Amino acid sequence: MNLPPGGHNRAMPEFELLHRDGQARCARLHLSHGVVETPIFMPVGTYGAVKAMSPRELEEIGAHIILGNTFHLWLRPGLDTIARFGGLHRFIGWERPILTDSGGFQVWSLGALRRISEEGVAFASPVNGDRLFLTPETSMQIQHTLDSDIAMIFDECTPYERDGVPTSFDDAAASMRLSLRWARRSRDAWNALRAGVSGAGNALFGIVQGGMFEALRDESLGALVDIGFDGFAIGGLSVGEPKEEMLRVLSHSAPRLPEHAPRYLMGVGTPEDLVAGVAAGIDLFDCVLPTRNARNGWLFTQWGDLKLRNARYRIDERPIDEQCACYACGRFSRAYLHHLQKVNEILGARLATIHNLHYYLQLMRSMRDAISAGRFETFRAEFGERRSRGVD
Ligand SMILES: [Zn+2]
Repeated sequence: MNLPPGGHNRAMPEFELLHRDGQARCARLHLSHGVVETPIFMPVGTYGAVKAMSPRELEEIGAHIILGNTFHLWLRPGLDTIARFGGLHRFIGWERPILTDSGGFQVWSLGALRRISEEGVAFASPVNGDRLFLTPETSMQIQHTLDSDIAMIFDECTPYERDGVPTSFDDAAASMRLSLRWARRSRDAWNALRAGVSGAGNALFGIVQGGMFEALRDESLGALVDIGFDGFAIGGLSVGEPKEEMLRVLSHSAPRLPEHAPRYLMGVGTPEDLVAGVAAGIDLFDCVLPTRNARNGWLFTQWGDLKLRNARYRIDERPIDEQCACYACGRFSRAYLHHLQKVNEILGARLATIHNLHYYLQLMRSMRDAISAGRFETFRAEFGERRSRGVD
């Protein structure tokens, strides 16, 4: 898509497709708080902070956009506080774009503590036990107050299995159709909230559900396209299904998402998953894996994964990866990082997080470069060879 003469006078968000290589694509997504080069990985800032990282450090490693969790921010600090700051950006000192989830996944994760009805989800607050009710309308109101650049519709995440039995076609269909009715309510509520706002528009994304069934995924996508959204996400993956199932649904659904809108794979995953996702045509990713694993001393590198707590690193003078340009690799030895992990020093978690996020963002940059140069398949083969080689 080319920009009209005179620049960005169209309603945002604008999505400029720059290059295609097979299904993989490079694009530029214009949002209220800045431009995001895709494909991109979004570090997860659950409570309004990417754990162990300052906004300056995130900027230094090249994070263009971060994710915030609607559910958690609604409970703490609460909307009164965030509204006082005019939104999440000023409250947390982050000036670049933010995507917020709808809270649906967190509520769903409460398991037996929540009750789903047509109207919404009733649950007990995990913070203080208060009885709360989350609906599509409430979720849109919260995300509007957060002023997220990208808001997500409120949906139900279909479980992969219940008590060891995979979700049936009929149950997955009923869940997906409930999500569609909530998608329509989300769209209407969002339009009403945005009606009084002038200037640049924040984006609202639809979420494709349908469990492990291609026919249901297609039905979900068709209905979401009819409602109309600024971008489309694939939800309900990485919820306990075998990897082959995830890849089957991904490779079916991703290329069918509208070509001229951003495509987001929610909550996935490993470096291999990101490469598979980009190969299938995905633009946006998020996952807690690089930050959560870092705090346990699990590092991702181009040569495979490195578990810092392993005794073999006790006297290893080398950096995590000699070719990595991050602060942790430029300055510290594996032996020191191993020591920090063993004594649970906060600095150990911080340095490991810096390295892992730097690696994830560098991986995305490498993919953008490879797509622009028309050599994504070569890149993908080399990536696979290196990752399976193992760390020295
Ligand atoms: Zn590094």
